[in-house]
Amino acid sequence: MFTRQRMWAQLPEQVDLLVIGGGVTGAGIARDAARRGLSVALVEMRDLAHGTSSRSSKLVHGGLRYLEQYEFSLVFEAVSERRILMDIAPHLVRPLGFLFPVYGGRGRPLWMVNAGMWLYDGLSLFRSPKLHRNLRPDQVAEEEPALTREGLQGAPLYYDGQTDDARLTLETALDAAAAGATIATWAKVTKLTSDEQGRVDGAEITDMIDGETRIVRAHAVVNATGPWTDRTRGLSTADAGAPLLRPTKGVHIVVDHDRLPVQHAIVAQHPEDERVLFFIPWGEQTYIGTTDTDYDGDPMEVQTDSEDVDYLIDAAASYFPDHPLTRDDVLSTWAGLRPLMAPIDQDREVDESSVSREHQIVVGTDGLVTIAGGKLTTYRRMASEVVDTAVNLLRLANRLPSPLAASHTDQQPLPGAVGWPEDDDVTHVASLVRDASGQRLASETAQHLAQTYGMRGIELGRLIAEDPDRAAPLLTGRVEVLAQVDWAVQQELAARLEDVMVRRLDLYYRDRDQGLTIAPLVAKRMAELLSWDERRTAEELGQYEAFVVNSRTWKKESDGSAP
Ligand code: FAD
Repeated sequence: MFTRQRMWAQLPEQVDLLVIGGGVTGAGIARDAARRGLSVALVEMRDLAHGTSSRSSKLVHGGLRYLEQYEFSLVFEAVSERRILMDIAPHLVRPLGFLFPVYGGRGRPLWMVNAGMWLYDGLSLFRSPKLHRNLRPDQVAEEEPALTREGLQGAPLYYDGQTDDARLTLETALDAAAAGATIATWAKVTKLTSDEQGRVDGAEITDMIDGETRIVRAHAVVNATGPWTDRTRGLSTADAGAPLLRPTKGVHIVVDHDRLPVQHAIVAQHPEDERVLFFIPWGEQTYIGTTDTDYDGDPMEVQTDSEDVDYLIDAAASYFPDHPLTRDDVLSTWAGLRPLMAPIDQDREVDESSVSREHQIVVGTDGLVTIAGGKLTTYRRMASEVVDTAVNLLRLANRLPSPLAASHTDQQPLPGAVGWPEDDDVTHVASLVRDASGQRLASETAQHLAQTYGMRGIELGRLIAEDPDRAAPLLTGRVEVLAQVDWAVQQELAARLEDVMVRRLDLYYRDRDQGLTIAPLVAKRMAELLSWDERRTAEELGQYEAFVVNSRTWKKESDGSAP
């Protein structure tokens, strides 16, 4: 069982490597290091992927638009990683068609977009999920009837990957745990400790649920705290120097797919400022994003403003004039911070969208290893570079355990991918899930479990066979079932109601009332599993409700009504 309590109880006093931050970067580092045979602890102040790693555009992509900035090596690296992630996590990283409509007098000319497509396919060594092809306006109209045809000259159709960012992070962390790492969530580093030479040798960690504090000593400490990078560096007594990051905020909005019925991801340029954004199909929903604005506030408080929502609705109006969206169509939103590298010359003015996406590994004078910048797509490779750096430091300090195994994280499947069919046939996996449940699941639910958990969906099927009540849908007409709550708590480190509602079930994003109706039932089930008393259960509910209300503040800003 991978429960949060068990992990906290197991947190060792001494490890080879302490990783701070349970986003995709930290999870990737813990996985790589544990698989090489290092003793590893990862501490995350809230839930896994609570930060940027659940608030991205959910694309595993080369970043077509970086070609314009001549960042060829970045694109090459990213498309190579796209291939690898599709191999090691085919249930979580799936090919998605992207349509790039070109309109006369607007944005780049068709020939230029086409040349970019060849370059993009070329940089993937022509191993894209499928090679691009050009659609004529009438073909575009057939493929995407909702898209405006006015001035349409054609549209290349190319392929990239779409993922569930929070689950990619979670499965990476669970794989690290399976390889021996301790993954402690709701565990915040409040201080970095150092030896007599001033070298960071551990951290003071506070249990954010029960308030207990512990010290974990480590031969190397890695700061993988995304937008919190500079704050974490500030926890050391050594001078952290100039900030490494210049974060920018990106917002997405979610609407029902019926309201914006796109069949492919549509690449568009905003009519006001020509920034690239996407309209992305997401099952029964469509999400639209993103904005890109500078942000220098507390990362914990980043949220959607009414201007962000209006900006995205305006973009939709321009491309889908027959499907006008209103603010009432917006089911939910998410706002995340890109942990972008600060420009080297701090005085030079740089436009937000031109800030480099590349990452950097910095070893401070206090020995703290910081990984700054990067992308979800390249997390595995970044993680392996960070572990190389940590291994070198351990070697220099004669702290390297021997023998050290080689890490092949590019070939080792994530947990849900073990046994996944070569032909990616989700329906076949769904039938196995249904068989395991003793045919107690509706086929859409079995399909949902196969898609969400990959081959591990079969284990959920078995849970249902043991107790058929677990097949009960959480909400009428939706596919989520009670077994998923049990699984989240017992196997996926969920410790708070928010963890389950937001990042294990997605109901916070997809349900019309963001899961508020079903939250009491989920809280009750969690109370049974985690021995919460009535007061704790009520607190969890209250906090979740407040969380939802807070996420709707933008509505208040726009019309003065209660959110
Ligand atoms: P995070 O996910 O933020 O993780 C850092 C973690 O550190 C947090 O969970 C935080 O709680 C924890 N932490 C902080 N301080 C402490 C402490 N003191 N103690 C313990 N824990 C602490 N990339 C792509 O490849 N494709 C995309 O489509 C894409 N779209 C994006 C869209 C947007 C709007 C944004 C903002 C980013 C996007 N990215 C995308 C980039 C990508 O999401 C990020 O690069 C990546 O998720 C960063 O992960 P991380 O682990 O470094 O940071």
